[in-house]
Amino acid sequence: MGLVPPCFITEIVERDLREGHYPRLLTRFPPEPNGYLHIGHARSIVLNFGLALDYGGECNLRYDDTNPETEKEEYARAIEEDVRWLGFTPDRVLYASDYFETMYRCALVLIQEGKAYVDDLSEEEMSELRAQGKPSPYRDRSVEENLELFERMRQGEFPTGSRVLRAKIQPDHPNFKLRDPVLYRIVHAPHYHAGNRWVIYPMYDYAHPLEDFIEGVTHSLCTLEFENNRAVYDWVIENLKGKCGLPLSPRPYQYEFARLDLTYTVLSKRKLIRLVEGGYVSGWDDPRLPTLRALRRRGVRPEAIREFVRRTGISRHEARIEMELFEEVVRDDLNPIAPRVLGVLEPLRVVLTNYQGEEWLEAPYWPRDIGKEGARPLPFSQELYIERSDFSLNPPKGWKRLAPGQRVRLRHAYVIELEDVVEEGGEVKLLKARMVPGTLGANPEDGIKPKGVIHWVSARHALPVEYRLYNRLFLTQDPEEGGDFLKNLNPLALEVKKGFVEPSVAQDPPETRYQLERLGYFWQDPGDSRPGRLVMNRIVPLKEGYRPQ
Ligand code: ATP
Ligand code: MG
Repeated sequence: MGLVPPCFITEIVERDLREGHYPRLLTRFPPEPNGYLHIGHARSIVLNFGLALDYGGECNLRYDDTNPETEKEEYARAIEEDVRWLGFTPDRVLYASDYFETMYRCALVLIQEGKAYVDDLSEEEMSELRAQGKPSPYRDRSVEENLELFERMRQGEFPTGSRVLRAKIQPDHPNFKLRDPVLYRIVHAPHYHAGNRWVIYPMYDYAHPLEDFIEGVTHSLCTLEFENNRAVYDWVIENLKGKCGLPLSPRPYQYEFARLDLTYTVLSKRKLIRLVEGGYVSGWDDPRLPTLRALRRRGVRPEAIREFVRRTGISRHEARIEMELFEEVVRDDLNPIAPRVLGVLEPLRVVLTNYQGEEWLEAPYWPRDIGKEGARPLPFSQELYIERSDFSLNPPKGWKRLAPGQRVRLRHAYVIELEDVVEEGGEVKLLKARMVPGTLGANPEDGIKPKGVIHWVSARHALPVEYRLYNRLFLTQDPEEGGDFLKNLNPLALEVKKGFVEPSVAQDPPETRYQLERLGYFWQDPGDSRPGRLVMNRIVPLKEGYRPQ
């Protein structure tokens, strides 16, 4: 099975390879290093790298770094790390800013051919004339004047924003993007990769096709908001092919697909930056965020993200995908690899009145349907912790957990029954209970019918854990609902509980993912967990609507 599900793009690629338009497929993933990658980018990464793997081609990681004011080396490094974490190895790591010289020479060619001109209009004046479909008064400058002004722009003679270079296409073209698009602007700012060499920087619409063309990219895949820009892409390529060292053919073509969007979160670097810089989360890897490093820290595996992209498909249909589907995919990924262990989030102490000492039970790691072998020793002793929510003094009808006069089985251990409740200030402090002798591993036909099975740990042996439970980052499916997305932030997106986990986890590799029975999938937080001070992240809860029986 391929990484990329069959879709209109795989059809195009197969056709082009079959008809021999290209000797070999070459794609690229072109992030701008102005923020961290999020799960939306995963669709583009899997698509571009996946096509290369599926069709025996290559894929470049190319920084689309043409904007000195927002880009940083820190972002570029993090992007590469995240791509590799997702499981992909770039055939080359390239920088658009390394092509500035070629792009500049291409601009000179356009000017010489009367296809580009320097414009002195202010930004407002320009957009007004463009809206009206009227030409700029500077449109008919001579080639010589344009060459001289553009050279002086490059020399740094003019202030930031004072002049631009525009393509001479058609001021009243029905596609606004073709109304003499801006090719270059002046920005007096150093560039993290190119240094201080440039004060003119190419615009996306001009730079992107050239980047693809220079590298020999065959299929340039981008999201649908660039559909109208395709005409500029084609204009740049058609007017520069065979010049400045660019080939005559083959040339790259742009194809658009729908971006990935998810409910209850935001997938835009700009908004994510506001959350991080505004202190609403603890950093770029805060597990509440949809960034790839946050998902990684939370415990989601790259396998799950790749599968999520595969399952949601590639199309031109824009739809917000339900977070529930993502969670389902994460559970499906963890279910066969996460051993089952016992832990308690909100401990309630239980003292057994007819049990002394301790014993070590053998508890299987896996339920039967997973079909895996393996067990760990599980200590049992007089004092236990159970989940506070597994006890009720006044249980509702159909209560399957512990209550006065009601027996429950402790998972992998004995049946217990309640004897006494110790309250303090209206709160249940302690339960006294009796273990029913002879019920260890008892079969259902022995006449002892506990109402349900609950999880527990031995108070004498359990390890204290700080549990971090992650809920939806936003209260509304669409965080923009009502205008300001910050107003819809979920104050309970992170809940911290002081609980316990069975001692066997201390023997496991720290990156082990577990299913804590009845609670969800967890692993140790790679940032904060220490051997003597465990911190466990809940990666994902158990099935939506799951109620402990
Ligand atoms: P953002 O909107 O988060 O700022 P961006 O489009 O500005 O994202 P880029 O760095 O330009 O981010 O994106 C790199 C590549 O990833 C582009 O080809 C872009 O089309 C693609 N991409 C970005 N967001 C998504 C998304 N939500 N779904 C699919 N592809 C995406
Ligand atoms: Mg962008």
